[in-house]
Amino acid sequence: MVFSARSRLVIYLALFSLTLVLTLAGILARPFASLSLFWPVNAVLAGLLLRHPRRASPVGWCLVYLAMVTADMACGSEWRPALWFNLCNLSVVLTLWLLMARLSRNDRRLHTPYGVLCLLGASASAAVVAASLACLVAAPWFNESVRATWLAWFSEQFSTSVLVLPVVLSAPSVRGLLRSNSQPIPIAPLWVLLGSLGLGLAVGGPGAIAFPIAALVWCALSYSPFLLSLLTLGAGSTLIVAVAQNVMHFSLPQTETAVTALMSARLGIAMLVLGPLVVACVSHANRQLLARLAHQAAVDHLTGALSRSAFTHQAGALLHSCRQPGLPITLMMLDIDHFKSINDRHGHAVGDQVLRQFARSVQEQLGKGALFARLGGEEFAIVVPGLAPQQAGFLAERLRRAVESLTLQGYGQALRISVSIGLAGGVAAPSEDLDSLLIQADQALYRAKAQGRNRVVQHSTQREVS
Ligand code: GH3
Ligand code: MG
Ligand code: MG
Repeated sequence: MVFSARSRLVIYLALFSLTLVLTLAGILARPFASLSLFWPVNAVLAGLLLRHPRRASPVGWCLVYLAMVTADMACGSEWRPALWFNLCNLSVVLTLWLLMARLSRNDRRLHTPYGVLCLLGASASAAVVAASLACLVAAPWFNESVRATWLAWFSEQFSTSVLVLPVVLSAPSVRGLLRSNSQPIPIAPLWVLLGSLGLGLAVGGPGAIAFPIAALVWCALSYSPFLLSLLTLGAGSTLIVAVAQNVMHFSLPQTETAVTALMSARLGIAMLVLGPLVVACVSHANRQLLARLAHQAAVDHLTGALSRSAFTHQAGALLHSCRQPGLPITLMMLDIDHFKSINDRHGHAVGDQVLRQFARSVQEQLGKGALFARLGGEEFAIVVPGLAPQQAGFLAERLRRAVESLTLQGYGQALRISVSIGLAGGVAAPSEDLDSLLIQADQALYRAKAQGRNRVVQHSTQREVS
């Protein structure tokens, strides 16, 4: 996609504004002028740039840095720490981007367990780089311990990346959201997650941060990776806040500071949520595979019509639903005339092309409620509910004419085909099943062939419509 100068300007402006707002949000959430409890800007930006790699240009990086420094200085920071610490923040975004941009799209969007492991490695590496850079100035400028600064930066950057990045990377696109057929979402795993979080907060102690794991695994099996990422973010953040506020009485021996208890909790929580993330992407991949297999079993790959087995299943159900209110139902059998000679004269590939065009032309004539299937070779079947026999005859005749008027170009000379159609149906008797309707329609088709082909014959009266 090529962007005009104007739309590039709009995108860069949006990138600058987003960085500014997220940095300000991080600063405002900073308790007691110490390190921010949440600093989501780095992970959010890395995620967005990984999803839109063209924005990761030198101009994009400069704007991100400029916005970070501007927000920091607007909140009262001196220029030297603002320049240096935002360089540390930029190094997180840059490292995450450099390590993950080379992954395949599937891994990058966390559709595979390998992608989740790469996220872990990239988050740890980015946190190491940022923590090491932050240490260089912490001691000389602020008289802070190198070890404490390193651990604080590492644990904060690592846990935030592991919690926030999956949300951005696995978020569905607007197009994906519109296309998705929203199914009801089971609510029970969510309640159990909330319950286990509440229990963890009530019981307290270091072990309590593991209480929500079983519920998160259940959520991972029930929800999409995106929803699961939102839940791990919510659960992880709740636990981090609870430890920071000492709600969970999570303390370490005297030699360690209270901040170290928070660091330890952060690292533990980040590692704990990785398991459910892997389960979510494996179960999502399984669900997609099953859906693809079900689709392949239900749809004929050459023509896009229903397969024989899907047709038998769906037509049986349709017959059953029409029988009770006494609605008429029609079954048509269609067979292309002298199809073998098309294969013989033009080759199998042309025969396939003809089958595709035939199926497209028939489908264009059918309404939404009709079932159209390829029973095998050049034989097709249609079931139309709610049509009286006479209307069904008109529809079959319309189909016959549409096929007759098809002109298939590009095979040396224009190629024309015709179809014979056998019809059976009416109001189904209580004992009538799909098999008996198929036999009747097949008998009518046999007569259409015997009477010279390219015609419609109804079974009940054997009356020729054309
Ligand atoms: P009729 O008018 O009596 O129906 O004659 P026909 O030649 O159409 O019928 P016949 O049953 O003798 O031949 C059907 C041919 O369809 C034979 C087979 O090679 C061909 N066929 C079956 N499946 C496919 C397919 O998937 N692709 C192609 N190209 N040909 C197929
Ligand atoms: Mg045929
Ligand atoms: Mg045939």
